Amino acid sequence: MNSSSIKKTKQYILQNYGRFPISMNKGLGAEIWDETGKRYIDLFAGFGACGVTGHSHPKIVKAVKEQTESLQCHGNYFTNPQQALLAEKIIKHSFPGKIFFCHSGAEANETAIKLIRKATGKQEIICFHNSFHGRTMGSLSITPESFQKGFEPMLNGAVRATFNNLDSVKEKITDKIGGIYLEPIQGEGGVNVPSIEFMQGVRELCNKHNLILVCDEVWTSPARTGEMFAYQLFGITPDVMTLAKAIGGSLPLAACVISDKFADVLVPGTHGCTMGGNPLCSAAALACMELIEEENLVKKANELGDYIFNRLKDAKLSKVKDIRYKGLMFGLELHSEFTTSDIVKEALEKGLFVAGAKNNTLRIAPPIVIKKEILDEGLEVLEGLLK
Ligand code: PLP
Repeated sequence: MNSSSIKKTKQYILQNYGRFPISMNKGLGAEIWDETGKRYIDLFAGFGACGVTGHSHPKIVKAVKEQTESLQCHGNYFTNPQQALLAEKIIKHSFPGKIFFCHSGAEANETAIKLIRKATGKQEIICFHNSFHGRTMGSLSITPESFQKGFEPMLNGAVRATFNNLDSVKEKITDKIGGIYLEPIQGEGGVNVPSIEFMQGVRELCNKHNLILVCDEVWTSPARTGEMFAYQLFGITPDVMTLAKAIGGSLPLAACVISDKFADVLVPGTHGCTMGGNPLCSAAALACMELIEEENLVKKANELGDYIFNRLKDAKLSKVKDIRYKGLMFGLELHSEFTTSDIVKEALEKGLFVAGAKNNTLRIAPPIVIKKEILDEGLEVLEGLLK
């Protein structure tokens, strides 16, 4: 494709992404069309941002249209019904506490990092190899070193442990540590699902040493893993949870959910975000949460996840070494002679969007509303590429 948008993108937009030369201009559900009219099945849901609703879901379109016409933004000297109702809904589905709204996963994680420092007076945080928490300086500091090159020095105090290895966490605990920071299922690191024992062990360590446990649920929520929030898979409750991507119903909204115990730490003047919780994005996010409830999308994620797993297992895909999943969050680890980047490119040529992650793992995470026939069509293409 050599459209004028691609030329202008090269000329005027920062070249910080390894973009494909494809310009998108229409989406509906799990389908997306480029400027030439070529159709793709999107099994990665706009990098998770349309993870619940798919593209241009009518309920989101309606909520956004109505809200655009009444009130779009007013700044946080005031509040609005949409953000208040959204906060109530998230708290009712998670744990008693209070919410800070912002726009990106990185920003939600900045909030949690500041909270750990202010609440505990300590600078060090245990984080994990193969994690990903964002690109801002704080969130980057607790993300693996491979993402940090050229941007040092990072924030003091990121202490790295091995995911799903409780002994490695115990070894790192000192009286300088203020919190433990993890994704309940690592996404970018290769869709790594920890054991219940590990997650419960981390919770107990936090209780014992007075550490703040933060779950970064930017990829894993809402509903994606077959629970509203992925920490619920493990029978634990974090002290803080960060949300972004799908929670906004495809609009930019993120949240840092802080349990009652720490909800008084960030007092006026200590933190903020001009457009955080604005009525427009909150209306979309509220509609997204309502959709999950109305269509029981938590159950659907579970059922479709098992369906995909059984189908891929039965297809005996010779290029695939291991399949890891919870709900609709899948990692297909390839044998070392194959690369995810090749498969992603071949898939795009055939009108399918899937993505790569670390450890030679292909990721699929369809919008939860995906229609079964579209899913089957996408899986058929994928199976053809992986056989
Ligand atoms: N946390 C996790 C687990 C993520 O996967 C990502 C992005 O992929 C982020 C945080 C950063 O989110 P954002 O790109 O919205 O800043």
